Amino acid sequence: MFSYRHAFHAGNHADVLKHIALLAALRHLQGKEGGLLLVDTHAGAGQYRLDHEHARTSGEAAQGIAAVWHAAMAAHARGDALPPAVQDYWQQIQAANPRGLLQHYPGSPALMQALLRPQDRLQLFEWHPTDGRLLDRAVQQWRAREPHPAIELRRDNGFEGLRRLLPPPSRRALVLIDPSYELKSDYGHVFATAAEGLRRFAQGCYLVWYPVIGRPEAHALPRRLRALAQRAQRPWLQAELNIGARPDAQAKAQAARGRPVGGLRASGVFVINPPYTLAPQLREALPWVLSALRQGRGAAWTVEAAEG
Ligand code: SAM
Repeated sequence: MFSYRHAFHAGNHADVLKHIALLAALRHLQGKEGGLLLVDTHAGAGQYRLDHEHARTSGEAAQGIAAVWHAAMAAHARGDALPPAVQDYWQQIQAANPRGLLQHYPGSPALMQALLRPQDRLQLFEWHPTDGRLLDRAVQQWRAREPHPAIELRRDNGFEGLRRLLPPPSRRALVLIDPSYELKSDYGHVFATAAEGLRRFAQGCYLVWYPVIGRPEAHALPRRLRALAQRAQRPWLQAELNIGARPDAQAKAQAARGRPVGGLRASGVFVINPPYTLAPQLREALPWVLSALRQGRGAAWTVEAAEG
């Protein structure tokens, strides 16, 4: 059941989209003093080494954070400003790589803990035995650096666990739902989890990542989430990023050298109750991101949003 390891995919284009959106939403919500409950229902290992065998085998970060890193360096050298959401993300990546070399990638738990204020709480779920152990170690490191009792790791099912946390006493929450979709049933679980979350706490901000692939369940998920938000009369946002496919000749040459080609080209985030600043921020950020990540035919970004 557990063959997915996020270490193979850390820092790919899907992480870039997801983490830019996550940070932008979190920053807005932290504009108010009130404490926030942050939940990561599928947390992964927390932080990753890009020079580890897993990341090097897949090479996915090359079409993700490595390309963003180089484009941001070049923009800074020219004196060009980055879109604010990209700048914020870029600063977090730099903070994770203080020696100025891109070696580490912060997963969603690392990004959220870095922004945690004393009044906030971070609840992490990770079910994989190995990644759960790695995340446990990361949480202990974070606690040792800055004792923060408000980070809790539960090494069990995040789909099941979320409901026990809602509604939060602070009445403010940001929930990331980010499974691997390794199992077809994940699509249904994501929908049911978002629906149950909304039922228990209608004001919560729910951020779902999904792959854009040729599978009926994958096509249906954002449509079902949109219908859910509309029925509940809640605002929603849907953003997608497609990095495009390389021309065939190039792809064949790459394959001949044994490098993986194809793979995931596009993914999206669907947000229920997004901060009102998220759509304009993503509309400014994604053209810049796409110019850094564009591989070829089909490259595109979209951001759609509606009030409840
Ligand atoms: N959110 C992470 C990030 O952005 O850095 C990446 C998470 S990765 C896409 C999905 C993770 O969910 C994997 O580490 C997997 O082991 C874990 N997982 C799978 N099913 C789960 C479940 N039902 N509950 C909690 N974790 C689960």
